[in-house]
Amino acid sequence: MNILIVFAHPERHSLNGALLDVAITALQAQGHEVRVSDLYAMRWKATVDRSDFPDIPADERLIVASASSREFAEGGLTDDVKAEQDKLRWADTVILQFPLWWFAMPAILKGWVDRVYACGFAYGVGEHSDRRWGDRYGEGTMAGKRAMLVVTAGGWPEHYSARGINGLIDDLLFPINHGILFYPGFTVLPPFVAYKVDRLDDTGFDILAEQLRERMRTLTTTAPIPYRQQNGGDYQIPTMELKASLEAPGTVGFALHAAVTTQK
Ligand code: FAD
Repeated sequence: MNILIVFAHPERHSLNGALLDVAITALQAQGHEVRVSDLYAMRWKATVDRSDFPDIPADERLIVASASSREFAEGGLTDDVKAEQDKLRWADTVILQFPLWWFAMPAILKGWVDRVYACGFAYGVGEHSDRRWGDRYGEGTMAGKRAMLVVTAGGWPEHYSARGINGLIDDLLFPINHGILFYPGFTVLPPFVAYKVDRLDDTGFDILAEQLRERMRTLTTTAPIPYRQQNGGDYQIPTMELKASLEAPGTVGFALHAAVTTQK
């Protein structure tokens, strides 16, 4: 299998860097081919601006989605973006690895998504009409590929539990898992989250490393998060609201969009 790891940490000699090595070694040991986009090492440009669309005339008002659509269709996106899109096409499984910063991914990784996920590639795919919102949420360019997050967090597991002050980890990661991975079609695996990592000792690291190795060993067999497909009949057309008959009593918000809740 071809595996792309998109790695977002400014220091290769970090806990994240060490876990990246663990993941690569475990995956290669199973015969997988691994490629890494180390965004800081690549000096990845993190913001979308006019320079992303070289063929758009300087005096034309920049409308990002239209410019993105046009340049994607005409092969006019910048080489760094096209290279990442090629890696996504090549990959059977994509892993996004990052430290949780302000309850989200580091800006450089968000910038990778903003720029690489072009219109026509990751969104704006399929029929868009009064009755259809395209091929998204389980369908689209990434259909058939798996994806998962590898995240480290300073907070304790309890802080991210049902009554924890930080909010549920599944809720915090929902915009990434559902909005960034499921949207363009990936089958999304439960995330690997390492908690309480800031004062990790060698024993703690060994435990964490073994847990990650196990997740890498079971990449192809782990059951995905059962997100509901947009075009699978669960949503009313055209409002895209979950059909009331499918609503589990007491379930609201993000949890509605998984057929069986993954929250604890
Ligand atoms: P490092 O700092 O590299 O290492 C962490 C620990 O692991 C250290 O004790 C180190 O000695 C040990 N270690 C590193 N490598 C090894 C190794 N090879 N073997 C054994 N031990 C090792 N946390 C939250 O929970 N929620 C937030 O919203 C949040 N926001 C943040 C925002 C910012 C801007 C920052 C800087 C931090 C934030 N944090 C937050 C904490 C952050 O998530 C953690 O600091 C981060 O996940 C730790 O990962 P790291 O790779 O940077 O660890």
